[in-house]
Amino acid sequence: MNITNAEFVISNTDVQKCPAGTFPEYAFIGRSNVGKSSLINMLTGRKGLAMTSATPGKTMLINHFLINKSWYIVDLPGYGYAKRGQKGQEQIKRIIESYILQREQMTCLFVLIDSRLAPQAIDLEFTEWLGENSIPFAIVFTKADKLKSGRLSTNINEYLKQLKEQWEELPPYFITSSENRMGRKELLDYIESINKSLNSK
Ligand code: GDP
Repeated sequence: MNITNAEFVISNTDVQKCPAGTFPEYAFIGRSNVGKSSLINMLTGRKGLAMTSATPGKTMLINHFLINKSWYIVDLPGYGYAKRGQKGQEQIKRIIESYILQREQMTCLFVLIDSRLAPQAIDLEFTEWLGENSIPFAIVFTKADKLKSGRLSTNINEYLKQLKEQWEELPPYFITSSENRMGRKELLDYIESINKSLNSK
C-alpha cells in the first residue's frame, strides 16, 4: 500500500472526543522511548508527523492521524515511564485502557517492543491483559538496525518463546527499523489486507 496522504486530525485525553465516524483505526502503543513516533513517521513517510520525544514520557495524548482519507493511525501514550510518578502513571493507564476497551473503531493494536532488550515484564503483562480482554493485536519489534542479525533473532525468539507461554497461537509480528525502513511494506500490507476485508463485508 502507498501512503499518499497523512494528516494530523486531533489530540485529546478523552476517548469520547476522538473523531466520529467508522474509519478503521490502527493504534500504536509501547513503553516510552520504544520508537513509536519514529515508526509512525517512517510508515507515513512524513518526518515530523508524530512528535519524537525530546522529553520521554511526557505526553498523555491520544493522537489521530488520517491516512489516505480512509483510515486512522492512532498514537497512544507510552506506558511504563517510571519518572512520571505513580499518579501520572495511573492517569496514563486510565487513558490507554479506556481507549482500548471502548473504542469500537480500533481494528488492531500494534504493541511495540524494543528488539534490543530481553523480554520485559511490563510488556508481557500488557499483552496478557489484551488477551484477557480479547483485544486484537500484533507485535512490532523496533530498532532492528541496532543489532547484528544473530543477536536480533536470539532476542526475538526469546520474546516469542515467552509469548508462547501465554498464547496457544502467536500473534502476527513484524520486525522493523525506522532507520532503514525494514518491515514497512509488511506492516502496511497487513493493514491493507485488514482494510480490504472490512470493505468487503
Ligand atoms: P517514542 O517515545 O516511543 O515515540 O520513541 P521515539 O520515536 O521518540 O524514539 C526514541 C529514540 O529512539 C530516539 O532517539 C530515536 O531516534 C531512536 N529510535 C527510534 N526508532 C529507531 C530505529 O528504528 N533505529 C534506531 N537506530 N533508533 C531509533
